[in-house]
Amino acid sequence: MNKTILHLDLDTFFVSVERRLNSELQNVPLLVGGITDRGVVAACSYETRGYGIHSGMPMRMARELCPEARVIKGNAGTYSRFSDDVTEIIKEAVPVFEKSSIDEFYADLSGMDRFFGSYKYASELRQKIIQETGLPISFGLSVNKVVSKVATNEAKPNNQLKIDFGYEKPFLAPLSVKKIPMVGDKTYQTLRNLGIRQVKTIQEMPVDIMKRVLGANGGIIWKRANGLDNTPVIPFHERKSISNERTFDRDTIDVIKLRGILLAMAENLAFQLRRGEKLTACIAVKIRYSDFNTYSKQMRIPYTSADHILIPKIMGLFDSLYNKRMLVRLVGIRFSHLVSGNYQINLFDDTEEALNLYKAMDHVRTRYGDRSVFRASAMGAKTIGRMHNPFNGQPPIVLAHRKQ
Ligand SMILES: [Mg+2]
Repeated sequence: MNKTILHLDLDTFFVSVERRLNSELQNVPLLVGGITDRGVVAACSYETRGYGIHSGMPMRMARELCPEARVIKGNAGTYSRFSDDVTEIIKEAVPVFEKSSIDEFYADLSGMDRFFGSYKYASELRQKIIQETGLPISFGLSVNKVVSKVATNEAKPNNQLKIDFGYEKPFLAPLSVKKIPMVGDKTYQTLRNLGIRQVKTIQEMPVDIMKRVLGANGGIIWKRANGLDNTPVIPFHERKSISNERTFDRDTIDVIKLRGILLAMAENLAFQLRRGEKLTACIAVKIRYSDFNTYSKQMRIPYTSADHILIPKIMGLFDSLYNKRMLVRLVGIRFSHLVSGNYQINLFDDTEEALNLYKAMDHVRTRYGDRSVFRASAMGAKTIGRMHNPFNGQPPIVLAHRKQ
């Protein structure tokens, strides 16, 4: 049976939220990001694109390219709240949906209705989101995730597109190969060097040639170019989490040691988030005392993967949880409510130097191992235990770097 997969994507999300909060920002070139000279552009409005501005660029350079642009310091908490509002509306409307990033969703509408009914249903859902949140959103509807995502991007801004079953290949054929999800700058250059510009050319090639040129990825790209994809929508209630815990050889009451170990674990988990391009919106700390009584405390936070935001919050949770002055047998940390995303949402307070420091540290960790660099206060924690799930009743953890 054919599936019916809906892909929803909020248009220029951070920019749209700022405009929703201040209508004077409509139709003016707008940059959201770090507002100091050393800050970075986290999001930019359609009006700025003609100036060669893109996210990730130094704010100073963006200002030079488009001096008339309004510049606004982003706020991760506000965006997380709007993201939650949209999630709630979708959750009420569809039985199975996946939140693939803070502004992107997939829903499986198979069997809900005949195809035309699904399109009508999706259109009404989109209108509901626009009316209730004031945010523009686009969607694509087709037989699978890849074709729907491409359809959404073709529909943008603030529109919708349905690809009828059987029309996947003709829909994709005239598009640039750049539009295929997973074709990044490097792959695009390789394909261009081979004289391949349109998806149509890949469709007409034997899959073996694509594999020879691009390895295993070539096979996947060939399938996508042909509109073939059977990746499932991963239900949101199976919220992925990553966690770590440490059981002590001898129970301890040494608070400095406990804090050092928590810091090392938090640092390591945050690295795993960044390596897997994930963000967390919920953190938890767990303590088991020598009498085996176990306590845990969790809190919702704005989406992040940054150590300097996560570590103080983890320490705060620990301080409020550890009040027994009793011997401790085990401590653990869990990050949950994971969605895809990168540094972007934390760009508002950070300078280029801070971002480059993260990148450099993560690069060393990737090359020489997780614990090759760490904060001096985490040095006491020689080993931080193997990665496994300290929270009972949870599904097995999915490592952040593992592709779902
Ligand atoms: Mg978006």
